Amino acid sequence: MKNIMKKQKRILTSDRPTGKLHLGHYVGSLKNRVELQNEYETFIMSADVQALTDNFDNPQKVRDNVLEVTMDNLAVGLDPNKVTFFIQSQIPEIAELTVYFMNLVTLARLQRNPTVKDEMQQKGFGNEIPVGFLSYPISQAADILFLKADLVPVGNDQSPMIEQTREIARRFNSLYGHVFDEPEGKFGEVARLVGTDGQAKMSKSLNNAIFLADPKDVVEQKVMNMYTDPSRLHFTDPGNVEGNPLFIYLDAFGSKEDQVQINDYKERYQKGKVGDIEVKQYLANILNRFLNPIRKRRAIYEQQPEVVGKILKEGTKKARMEAKKTLLEVKKAMKLDYFK
Ligand code: ATP
Ligand code: MG
Repeated sequence: MKNIMKKQKRILTSDRPTGKLHLGHYVGSLKNRVELQNEYETFIMSADVQALTDNFDNPQKVRDNVLEVTMDNLAVGLDPNKVTFFIQSQIPEIAELTVYFMNLVTLARLQRNPTVKDEMQQKGFGNEIPVGFLSYPISQAADILFLKADLVPVGNDQSPMIEQTREIARRFNSLYGHVFDEPEGKFGEVARLVGTDGQAKMSKSLNNAIFLADPKDVVEQKVMNMYTDPSRLHFTDPGNVEGNPLFIYLDAFGSKEDQVQINDYKERYQKGKVGDIEVKQYLANILNRFLNPIRKRRAIYEQQPEVVGKILKEGTKKARMEAKKTLLEVKKAMKLDYFK
């Protein structure tokens, strides 16, 4: 009887508690989390250990943001009765697994990771790269593999991390016997949302984000200050729609019913027949309409942080049980099971 039912597939994904979540998180990962939460057994991790790799001098910021990112996840519609929320640092087995995985990855392989390379430059580490930061993809593999996740909904900046995880799983299995299946990444429809400054990625750390918790007037202000087409000086100049954040956001957050109006704006923009301000006002309305229900749900959780704390505590307990199970298997495979 027991084996007839197929085990529900599992999702693991996570956010770094370095700031509140933004529109990029939504299109890259949160939307898929919400859509898949009934189909998959879903685990969402607050990656505080990873956040410390480049914020080790600011533990209070990381601590405060654990609650914030969890509230953002709840605000977009993840159901705490179905989804398990947990905190990375409270699962010591992840650190243990990371140590074992470190033997399976070369320094050269870590140094080739394009996302880590970009981030190192962005953070201005120069030659003073903390080992913890350079090796975070290994710890990320441990996050995913301790839970034996099948699917990892992420933005495409995380694609090298998924690849690294698959490599580690393969190498582990070939050395010690099969323990891990290789997980798949699942990218959002917009796999990498540009920032309000036109930079390739909206990011908490780049000061170019519209946050899910931003109030209406802040959204309006950020949209008004957005980068659009820098070559367009007057609204009678023909403008570029391609690669223009204004239209990228309209495509990402406009509904089906908005399509006719969006296409009309695109045509007129290219012909120099509509001003940036009019399109920006239209976009601000669309974004605020999208954000309203999220703000409402968030407000309920903000009034009862102890409920969020309890969700995290219970979720962490559950995730820890899974971690212990996997570590028993791992240690057995690695001949580290001394005292049975
Ligand atoms: P940090 O600058 O601290 O790394 P971040 O803004 O990159 O913050 P993360 O917590 O690292 O956010 O990312 C959480 C998830 O959201 C990841 O799956 C990541 O790929 C996705 N994500 C982040 N920014 C974007 C974006 N601009 N577009 C699409 N997905 C994104
Ligand atoms: Mg990031």
